[in-house]
Amino acid sequence: MNHDVLVLAEAAGDSFIDPTFELLGRARDLATAWGGRVLALVLGPSPDPSMLNADVVLTVSHPKLDAYTPEAHARAAQHVVAELDPKLVLLANTTEGMDLGAALSLWCQRPLVAYAVDVRAEDDAIVATSQLFGGRLLAEVALEGDRGICAVVGGSFPPARVPTRPPVVEVVAPPVSLDGVTTVPRGMPPGEDEDIDITKAPMLVAIGRGLKSQDNVAVAQALAEALGASLSGTSQVCDLGWLPRTRHVGKSGVKVRPRAYLSFGISGAPEHLEGIRESELIIACNTDEAAPIFDAAQYGTTADAIELLRALTSRVQQR
Ligand SMILES: Cc1cc2nc3c(=O)[nH]c(=O)nc-3n(C[C@H](O)[C@H](O)[C@H](O)COP(=O)(O)OP(=O)(O)OC[C@H]3O[C@@H](n4cnc5c(N)ncnc54)[C@H](O)[C@@H]3O)c2cc1C
Repeated sequence: MNHDVLVLAEAAGDSFIDPTFELLGRARDLATAWGGRVLALVLGPSPDPSMLNADVVLTVSHPKLDAYTPEAHARAAQHVVAELDPKLVLLANTTEGMDLGAALSLWCQRPLVAYAVDVRAEDDAIVATSQLFGGRLLAEVALEGDRGICAVVGGSFPPARVPTRPPVVEVVAPPVSLDGVTTVPRGMPPGEDEDIDITKAPMLVAIGRGLKSQDNVAVAQALAEALGASLSGTSQVCDLGWLPRTRHVGKSGVKVRPRAYLSFGISGAPEHLEGIRESELIIACNTDEAAPIFDAAQYGTTADAIELLRALTSRVQQR
């Protein structure tokens, strides 16, 4: 029986996203426990595949895979999974991973655990811990049968960045079904992909609905500029159009790991906290002393956000 673990690698520019390296680390533990290999699957244009810590990297190229297209990528992934029949498929619980995980589960008739924060081997069984209700509950799931798919939340495992030895790279012929894909991606909305990457920012000034009005975003921006920090926010402020989507932190946005996360007028809902847990330092300003953000913060104040932003900006500018 095949005991391989296959990681669906997600490319980003000239590398792969951090969760890909995290999944490869856990895949190695699982494959060792089960006596299988670590396989990485790259669909479409690939950064250097030899940076992936896998035994074998499988690449599939086709014009329909040049930009992310749910239908094309799901068909190509299904083709490889059906062909190789790995015991477990690991994907990142990103927008792309959630999309592909659901399609693979249906087409390959395998159970899927989404929002997983742990995946382990218990003898031959696949056991996962999954977040429910935006992280309010954790559920432990033993997958029925001996095949499964887990979509894992970023930051759940340490990354395995340096390959122990260069992987074997195999080119897989694309399935003929790709020729029938009719979806044509038109690209990202203008400006979205030109923004800064807040996941790399060493310091973030983060804003929530407590700022009350879009006009006050400039007050937060002034502090961010004075500190050399970047501006980010909750899903609510991005929904209101105060900040672009690229600045949205949390479960449905991005996970950040700054050295300091300065939060102003953010309540600290579990979906938001999910994206900031790995910050080295969290400082919160919220007029409600019972706001859950204070449970996650090392330092906090119940000062008015606008007054504090102005006072801090002027102090930093005087230095
Ligand atoms: C499936 C799902 C996914 C989600 N994903 C995300 C996600 O990725 N990211 C995310 O952020 N949210 C997400 N949410 C939404 C989340 O549940 C919260 O609704 C959201 O985070 C709240 O945003 P907020 O803190 O800006 O606003 P609010 O919850 O309205 O909080 C505003 C805070 O400002 C404080 N305040 C008011 N006036 C002042 C003042 N003058 N000075 C200082 N403080 C003040 C208030 O006390 C309050 O605590 C998700 C929800 C669901 C259901």
